[in-house]
Amino acid sequence: IHALNRIKRKIREIKDWPKTGVTFRDVCPLFEDPKAFHDAIDLLRDRYSSYQFDVVAGVEARGFVIGAALAYSLGKGFLPLRKEGKLPGPNLSKAYQLEYGSSTLEVQNFCPRRGLRVVVVDDLLAKGGTLEAACFLIESCGGTVVEASVLVELSSLRGKEVLEVRGWKVFSLLKYD
Ligand code: 5GP
Repeated sequence: IHALNRIKRKIREIKDWPKTGVTFRDVCPLFEDPKAFHDAIDLLRDRYSSYQFDVVAGVEARGFVIGAALAYSLGKGFLPLRKEGKLPGPNLSKAYQLEYGSSTLEVQNFCPRRGLRVVVVDDLLAKGGTLEAACFLIESCGGTVVEASVLVELSSLRGKEVLEVRGWKVFSLLKYD
């Protein structure tokens, strides 16, 4: 579609960054472009307007940009999943492996979330470790993952399978090999 092409044109490709052999897909130009940014959020809004859920959880930091806009557009709350050490606790933590290194995500855990239905959002799915940790944290604090959602999926890295074997559904607006 038209909107998807507009979105795609605003995703920059950077070869050999942050490491040789890695091609980084930069979504910041998409965030900066009013039309492309609205197109992306509107497409996600259209998808999730028919879903029964309570909250959008976003992965720091680019997942915050998408997740907060999506949550607001659907009249939902927003739950931040942050990098280690940023949130006043009590927190739940989950360490995970990245394409280049390792990291830890945290969610605050001071209120009951039993039965909370959550859409988990990030900018991009690569090998799946980040979204897997994010979905794990949501379930650990009592929530249910309705779907994990990204702007971009790097299909050849097969992150989708990592999530699907654990029973979490995945949606992506755009796919690259
Ligand atoms: P994964 O855990 O799926 O291997 O990697 C996905 C996470 O790393 C996401 O949080 C994403 O922001 C970041 N990431 C990895 N590769 C890229 C990339 O090429 N472009 C962008 N924008 N983010 C990436």
